[in-house]
Amino acid sequence: MTAPFLRPLGSADWLQTKGNDNSCYTLCDRLLIDCNSALLMNLLNHDIDPLSMDTVLFTHMHIDHCMGLAALLMYWRVRKGDLGLLTIAGPAATVREQVMLTLDFVFHDSRDRMAEIKRLPNIVELSGDGVYDHPDFAIAYTDSDHAVPGLCYRITDKATGRAVGLTGDTYYQAKYGAFFDGVDLLVHECSYGAGPLDDFATVCRHTSAREAADVANESGTRRLMLTHAYEPKREAALAEARRHTDVPVLWATPFQPVEF
Ligand SMILES: [Zn+2]
Ligand SMILES: [Zn+2]
Repeated sequence: MTAPFLRPLGSADWLQTKGNDNSCYTLCDRLLIDCNSALLMNLLNHDIDPLSMDTVLFTHMHIDHCMGLAALLMYWRVRKGDLGLLTIAGPAATVREQVMLTLDFVFHDSRDRMAEIKRLPNIVELSGDGVYDHPDFAIAYTDSDHAVPGLCYRITDKATGRAVGLTGDTYYQAKYGAFFDGVDLLVHECSYGAGPLDDFATVCRHTSAREAADVANESGTRRLMLTHAYEPKREAALAEARRHTDVPVLWATPFQPVEF
């Protein structure tokens, strides 16, 4: 039995830096969590087959999390021939509109767009609390608290029972301790780096390493992975998180898979 793994494809916030694209991950190279800007090349350059990922889970539809969907849809349409085999799940309020806008953008030059697309992807609209069942993974979700509708995911590998939690972009919520209870790996955003949060945090709804450490403590996770911060903020963010939790803290280093 092999351990499941999370493979970061980037851990930047909305501004990429050399070698680090926006925050985005594969789970066992089977699921995609968000679609960063250079998604398709990030996969191909590391010998990961874009067609092996039949499910995309969007945390929310801010552009740094969904820019790469256009290239993925084009690749799937040409290489697989049928977009109906691709499932795209995300916030109920926004995922369908964003997918349709993206299809419109990708196939804008086709005289009969729907004939070109053949079948729409399977769009799954999620909100509130629930579980989306994948053949290999049980995917629990709960609403995040961000500037736009968003979701946190808790994904359990059915073969091993191991679980990973992902916050997406979010403000702190007391419910996260229970939602992520006992996960083997918690991936938490830290847009504010070492912090502290300022007044604008109540508008943009992001967190710092301090709140990430709080959620790590409250959930009892085995490890905390920080992500979604501008590169120069990284070291201070790691140090701040380690000041507030005894849980091992690591950075979401692009293309370094982490078993959980
Ligand atoms: Zn973001
Ligand atoms: Zn966002």
